[in-house]
Amino acid sequence: MSSEKTAVAPGANFIRNIVERDLELGTNASRRWAGTPGDAEHHAKGEPDPAKIRTRFPPEPNGYLHIGHAKSIFLNFGLARDYDGVCHMRFDDTNPEKEEQEYVDSIIEMVQWLGFGWQKYGASHLYFASNYFDFMYRAAEYLITAGHAYVDQQSAEEMRANRGNLTEPGKDSPWRNRSPDENLALFREMRDGKHADGSMVLRAKIDMASPNINLRDPAIYRIKRATHHNTGDQWCIYPMYTYAHPLEDALEGVTHSICTLEFEDQRPFYDWVLERLAKPTEDVGGNEQRGLLAHPLPRQYEFARLNLTYVVLSKRKLIELVENKHVNGWDDPRLPTLAGARRRGYTAAGFKLFTDRIGVSKADSWIEYTILEDCMREVLNESAMRRIAVLDPIKLVIDNYPEGSTEDCFAPNHPQQPETGKRVVPLSKELWIEREDFMEEPSKGYFRLFPGNMVRLRYGYVIKCTGCEKDADGNVTTVHCEYLPDTKSGTAGADSVKVKGNIHWVSAAHAYAAEVRLYDRLFKEAHPGAGDRNYLDDLNPDSVKVITAQLEPALKDAKPEETFQFERHGYFVADRKDSVAGKPVFNRTVTLRDAWQK
Ligand code: ATP
Ligand code: MG
Repeated sequence: MSSEKTAVAPGANFIRNIVERDLELGTNASRRWAGTPGDAEHHAKGEPDPAKIRTRFPPEPNGYLHIGHAKSIFLNFGLARDYDGVCHMRFDDTNPEKEEQEYVDSIIEMVQWLGFGWQKYGASHLYFASNYFDFMYRAAEYLITAGHAYVDQQSAEEMRANRGNLTEPGKDSPWRNRSPDENLALFREMRDGKHADGSMVLRAKIDMASPNINLRDPAIYRIKRATHHNTGDQWCIYPMYTYAHPLEDALEGVTHSICTLEFEDQRPFYDWVLERLAKPTEDVGGNEQRGLLAHPLPRQYEFARLNLTYVVLSKRKLIELVENKHVNGWDDPRLPTLAGARRRGYTAAGFKLFTDRIGVSKADSWIEYTILEDCMREVLNESAMRRIAVLDPIKLVIDNYPEGSTEDCFAPNHPQQPETGKRVVPLSKELWIEREDFMEEPSKGYFRLFPGNMVRLRYGYVIKCTGCEKDADGNVTTVHCEYLPDTKSGTAGADSVKVKGNIHWVSAAHAYAAEVRLYDRLFKEAHPGAGDRNYLDDLNPDSVKVITAQLEPALKDAKPEETFQFERHGYFVADRKDSVAGKPVFNRTVTLRDAWQK
């Protein structure tokens, strides 16, 4: 990673190089765009495409987006933005099962949250692949007519057995040499519901001996009686993903179709489908048909998917974590879903920094979770206002401070940004301090509160510890001290007494006692489930701790999603779901420093 980072200009990567080369060569300059997706004839009626490039982000609406998708989103939408193009928001909803409106809504929300939209050239580029079913069907008939596809009636087991393997070629199906007419008739019967689910499939006729198993006559249509969220019961046959995807790209005039590495072996089939459909052919009656798709055709490029330590990104595992209640829903702040990350207080700017920093490469690798956390810290350090919070409170009584009296102390909202001003922090006789800021018998090098020692109350006075009270079990319940009246921060006498320690505090009479969730990593192992382990056994049992903390009064007014640095503790966000006006609940986004590094 690091060598890659220094070798190229910021933001540069091999995909950008490809796009730049295509722009230079004018590879896609002849394309026309008719304003909506469509076939060659449709686009031929359009204007030269105002978009220099077209990319797409094509999630299947069968789950929530996760941090890996953010990489794809920034890549695809980022390319379109930087090269005067447009990125299509496309729902790849050709599979009738498992797709739901809930997922569609949340995907839209999260892409927008990351800062992207699809309104361009006076139109919305939000598309649903299921709207192309008619075309996909027509294209299948076209392939059949041209002798490039056949209906296979082998059972699933026979097909598997005859596929061969990496060392052995496959065997031709006994149905492989049916005439186009016969195939067409059978395919229409499939469409008309005349055959049972799984009893036959339409297959591309390529090469059962191809060294690339994906080219051994892949299935392109299957029979499946299932109600589709968009087309209802209109279809009982559905296209296979590897056939549907290139068609979706071509109909939408996509120039650069960017996907993850596992599709590299599918690229020959992607090209095969498009080339066959773009080519004029002769139908059985001897009439020449014009090609269904216009040149230049989309090109597929593959990049390495994001793998992040301490995280699982597989949809199956995420679903399991949610359904079996290992977490509280899809937006649980511990989940790597974008909805969860958002609730955790991770920001779109932090994800942008992260995706820039990790770059785009052609080789799979693991990214350390700390890189993501560091990006969030960097962004929040700039943007988050400072506030005081006592997370593990014990009482401190200033015995010589007048009873019932209150005074204002002034604390900067952001020490590096004086223009953000200061806020009032009230001081009174009884304060909350952190339990760890007092030791009855100090260890070596401890310079905070212990009997006889002096420290500064941050933004307040120097105090001298006089002792403590304990309960029957010997636990400290109250610490006592006296303050030095001439030492208030910001006054002439502030520096008259030198102290080493500086502790934070909240006035007990003014404090806001709030629920604070201290989130940590969901998994305790860098590679959950590696080796023979079950990834569920790697769950971190301490991934959340809910406490009641004592916060400075200004935090009572925090708005949902407002982020703060709690001094000395880390970055916290007012939870967007559980906060109510005047009673915010806080989530720890990230600690100030990485506690996981040895
Ligand atoms: P599945 O295929 O299991 O349904 P998926 O994670 O591939 O899940 P899709 O909805 O198909 O989910 O993904 C949409 C887009 O996001 C795809 O183009 C895919 O390449 C990209 N993507 C998914 N996971 C990652 C990842 N970990 N890193 C980078 N890109 C990803
Ligand atoms: Mg996928």
